[in-house]
Amino acid sequence: MRFALEVLIDIQEIDKQLALLEKAKGNLPQKVREISSDLSQLETELEEKRALVEETTAKLKKAENDLASSKGKLQKYQQQLYQVKTNKEYDAVTVEIDSAEQEIDRLEFQVLEAEESRNNTREKIDELEKKVQTMRADLEENKKMLENTLGETRHAGEKLSKKRNELLKNLSKPIISTYDRIRIGRHGIALALLKNGSCSECSARIPPQRAMEIRMMNRLFYCEVCGRILIWKQEEDSPIVENEKTTE
Ligand SMILES: [Zn+2]
Repeated sequence: MRFALEVLIDIQEIDKQLALLEKAKGNLPQKVREISSDLSQLETELEEKRALVEETTAKLKKAENDLASSKGKLQKYQQQLYQVKTNKEYDAVTVEIDSAEQEIDRLEFQVLEAEESRNNTREKIDELEKKVQTMRADLEENKKMLENTLGETRHAGEKLSKKRNELLKNLSKPIISTYDRIRIGRHGIALALLKNGSCSECSARIPPQRAMEIRMMNRLFYCEVCGRILIWKQEEDSPIVENEKTTE
């Protein structure tokens, strides 16, 4: 039984390492997902801003065309003013000139407004493009890290599993199933050390008589509180043996 327990100790070490490998990749897939989602949000925003620039440019062009034609009209009316013969004609042309001037003011304002809005949007686009670029690099880096980790994990994991399978060959089926049952029920840790007179996992006190038996490692003993298999490693225990003997 001592040999079987020692094999179980090795298996538990392997199981701990396998759990660490799982943990190592744990955070990265989520991070990659998060960055991807943020990135696509920014890209959508960028597309919207670009569409807005096109829209504003079209508005600007129309206002500029209208402005040019209003200016043409104004020029025409101003020339007509020299050719009028009656007061009535003069008044009529003056009204046209006033209205053309008002239209020109309105259009000039529109052109300015469109230009300003387009400049603002372009600045936002520059900003967004920089952000998108940084985020893309960040995403690539995290993806690469994830791939590397998965690669390493896979390799290390395969090696560990192979070793584990080799070790399992030394154990009887009931011991294996007992170990696995406790491991699954106890967050991956099926073995506990007898240490300083207590269970190393749940700190329950072990009666001295029981402790002595556990130290022999002749059969399976379970912690009465957490149910784990209790083992003893002399090098990990403090020399409490003498004290225990005196309290017996
Ligand atoms: Zn315990």
